[in-house]
Amino acid sequence: MSAGHWIPAPRAPWLARLGEALRHHHRAIVGLQWVVLVAYLVLVVTPAFLPLPENGAHLWDNLTLFAQFAFWGIWWPFVLLSMLFMGRVWCGVLCPEGFVSEQASRFGLGRPVPRWLKWGGWPCVAFLATTVYGQLVSVYEYAQAALLVLGGSTVAAIAVGLVYGRGKRVWCRHLCPVSGVFGLLARFAPLHFRTDRARWEASNAPPPAPVNCAPLVDLRRMQSAAPCHMCGRCSGHRDAVRLAARAPGAELAQLGDDDVDRWEVRLLVFGLIGTAIGAFQWSASPWFVRAKLALAEWLIGQDHFALLGDDIPWWLLTHYPQANDVFTWLDGLMILAYIGAAAVLVGGWVSVWLRLAGRLLGTPRAHLRLAYALVPFAGIGLFLGLSGLTVTLLSAEGIVLAALPALRGALLALGAAASLWLLARHARNTPGRTRGARAGAFGAGAIALAGAVLPWVLMYFVW
Ligand code: SF4
Repeated sequence: MSAGHWIPAPRAPWLARLGEALRHHHRAIVGLQWVVLVAYLVLVVTPAFLPLPENGAHLWDNLTLFAQFAFWGIWWPFVLLSMLFMGRVWCGVLCPEGFVSEQASRFGLGRPVPRWLKWGGWPCVAFLATTVYGQLVSVYEYAQAALLVLGGSTVAAIAVGLVYGRGKRVWCRHLCPVSGVFGLLARFAPLHFRTDRARWEASNAPPPAPVNCAPLVDLRRMQSAAPCHMCGRCSGHRDAVRLAARAPGAELAQLGDDDVDRWEVRLLVFGLIGTAIGAFQWSASPWFVRAKLALAEWLIGQDHFALLGDDIPWWLLTHYPQANDVFTWLDGLMILAYIGAAAVLVGGWVSVWLRLAGRLLGTPRAHLRLAYALVPFAGIGLFLGLSGLTVTLLSAEGIVLAALPALRGALLALGAAASLWLLARHARNTPGRTRGARAGAFGAGAIALAGAVLPWVLMYFVW
């Protein structure tokens, strides 16, 4: 982290006390985690064995619809949003998957984490794979698909816990499909546990009992909120670790060239921005419909019917004839092509302009540092995309948000403004460059951001 202190950290002793309360009430938190785990299992397993909801069923009288709303309408979008404001409190205090993985690892083989598992690309690969697969099987719409994706992830988390670590969350640290996303968003959060390195080194007290930091954070060197699950167990350790406030975005604004992680940037640019836009957009895109119709007509004209077949298992492609919702092979290929094209075009556009901006700033990794400025916009975009289902489910119950377009526009503008502010900070705080080079870098960064904004504007205000 660069040494600049131009963003003052607000003093808030009550926050330090809140951190202490988390530590003191660890047992109560574990009790809460058991309750969340049971509720999660009931909601993810039971609906998969129930018939699809009848026409006229409601959220309050149909368990399948209730679970769909709870998981995808409330939990997923608002957990993501919470990362921008509270860091990974969800992970440390409520997440059933991290909790069950940690519990399993208390009784498992306790093996050390192998090198292949520490590969930095897993969070990116896992996010891309689950996002794309989720679209193919319509994970947000059908309980069987939700059980497969969420339940499969939970089983994998338990299996990893049973083999690796002792009382740790090896799954969360290295493999969880949303761990990388949460880490990126938590870097923006105004709340974090912070280690005062000087106090740590100066502490003359006898060495305290070691802290069991389940996600394996190096407490002594903890600077970033990205890996910390905010569980509070380390609060007060060596009189140096505290829950503290900081200005929103301060960590992102102060990143130095050595603090960046290439895989994190790939996840941000090609995952949270490129792939996510494709995944949210394809079903609303007139381009998708036109291209699919044109291809289908061409295939029929050529007497090629294989790709128009729909006798495909539901775990490979959406297949619910009782709901008149059946994907053909062509649908599946088109979805893959659309999401892939969005990832390459939008992610590629952002990458190219960030590279130019980085060149103007004159350091080899400046483009990576600048990429982190896009975190707030990417987070808002993800929230808006995911909350689309919230809106759909509420409107099916007759609850229509008249101010929705204005609200969406305002949130997009807010995310873009925060990203522009971070770009400006990075450009301004790069030493040894002319004013023109800094302005050019900011301009190139703004054009990169525009490539991420445009698809949302098309989806919400043009189509
Ligand atoms: S550093 Fe580890 S122990 Fe401390 S709050 Fe974060 S997750 Fe918990």
